[in-house]
Amino acid sequence: MGLRLYNTLGRSLQEFEPIQPGKVGFYGCGPTVYNYAHIGNLRPYVLHDVFTRALRWMGYEVTHVMNITDVGHLSDDADSGEDKMVKSAQERGKTVWEIAQFYTDAFFRDTERMHIRRPTVVCKATEHIDEMIALIRRIEANGYTYSAGGNLYFDVTKFPSYGELAMIKLDDLKAGARIDVDPNKRNPADFALWFTKSKFENQAMVWDSPWGRGYPGWHIECSAMSMKYLGEQFDVHAGGIDHIPIHHTNEIAQSEAATGKRWVKYWLHNEFIVMNAGKMSKSSGGFLTLQSLVDAGYDPLDYRYFLLGGHYRSQLQFSYEALDSARASRRGLFDRTLVLRDKLHGGEPTPLASLCPTAAARVAAFRAAIEDDLSTPRALAELWGALKDQGVPAADALGAAFEMDLVLGFGLAELEREEAAPVDAALAAEVEALIAERAAAKKAKDFAKADGIRDALKARGVVLEDGPAGTAWKLSGATPGSVPRA
Ligand code: AMP
Ligand code: ZN
Repeated sequence: MGLRLYNTLGRSLQEFEPIQPGKVGFYGCGPTVYNYAHIGNLRPYVLHDVFTRALRWMGYEVTHVMNITDVGHLSDDADSGEDKMVKSAQERGKTVWEIAQFYTDAFFRDTERMHIRRPTVVCKATEHIDEMIALIRRIEANGYTYSAGGNLYFDVTKFPSYGELAMIKLDDLKAGARIDVDPNKRNPADFALWFTKSKFENQAMVWDSPWGRGYPGWHIECSAMSMKYLGEQFDVHAGGIDHIPIHHTNEIAQSEAATGKRWVKYWLHNEFIVMNAGKMSKSSGGFLTLQSLVDAGYDPLDYRYFLLGGHYRSQLQFSYEALDSARASRRGLFDRTLVLRDKLHGGEPTPLASLCPTAAARVAAFRAAIEDDLSTPRALAELWGALKDQGVPAADALGAAFEMDLVLGFGLAELEREEAAPVDAALAAEVEALIAERAAAKKAKDFAKADGIRDALKARGVVLEDGPAGTAWKLSGATPGSVPRA
């Protein structure tokens, strides 16, 4: 059995056969950089990372391209709304370029901490305006556009298969008549390819073009940059499910209008991470960042474990209880790996080709799970199976685990046993006493006092971690292996 992927285009599980045997061109929509990524935004990048790792593990040569949407006004689904980059710049007293660079750096800090590998090509929208203009000219030359109110629009009625990905029909769209604020459009689903009449005051990012000085519509950047780096037809395109009805639908229409050919073969879409309170949104503020999880005492890999514990096409409910459980599992994974390493006494893990039959069967089951539309929950279960099977020699268990980790990306082969940091006995006693006092305060429902104790300890560099088995603590900055436990 080979790899099977759920293709949104056609809504079915399909055998994966790249256009060119042995090679895969993969484009994943990247971040908008007018704010920090929230933890929901990080889900697609973990998926893209596991996907590219899996492909390489299976022997494919992969070119993975990701864009950076560094133009704030290009981020709204309906080509309307506010210029988030300008707003963010004004609020922070910076230029839009500084804002974009700042949040791009923050994004890569987050992804690195989660062991998300950098794509082969990372391309910024602002550095590909010429390519976008060239593509728009082709779309225009093929007769798919019209000018209105100073802007150039794509006429969706000229593209017969418009809406195929989202399984929407143009007639339904017209009948449904979305509330649209742009009176220039002939059809509600039409979208701008180039704006010269800015919706926004003080537009900071503008370029010259055949249609006048202005800026591109949002969708065109992904079409132009993916074709530049992957060719006019490539294998896989991915993004969050929110992109299906508008962004990806429009990307397909304009790309295929330009080339006259099928653009992308497989479309992967990740479901959302939701909070108890509902949807997470970058623009509404009040969202959780990876750093906020770190500040609360979690390791970024706890969140990676949490994400891999669900299948990418299932909605995942985020809660601290669920993250606690992911943390316990991730720590268990690391501990078990280190215990097996100790058992090897400096020996080497068994290479894949020489694994004992039981360990080899585990790797085969792992492979089957990954080949089944990237089933990471099943893959994790196989990893645990390999590590915990008492009948498997340590060298084979580790050999199998390291093999699987090439896809899962926890870095098991690089784990070092941390020397437990020497903790001052007096400090430890004091912290323990304060933890007991805090527990008593909580029991008495004196939450102000309980929070006060936590904050006072945090100010002294001691982070408390509430878990099912009580409260543990560590010195901030300490790695999990060196947690001085109560
Ligand atoms: P943005 O930077 O806002 O363009 O979002 C980056 C990616 O995150 C896009 O692929 C979105 O589809 C995806 N996304 C946004 N919110 C969530 C969420 N709550 N859960 C999972 N993915 C999300
Ligand atoms: Zn895109």
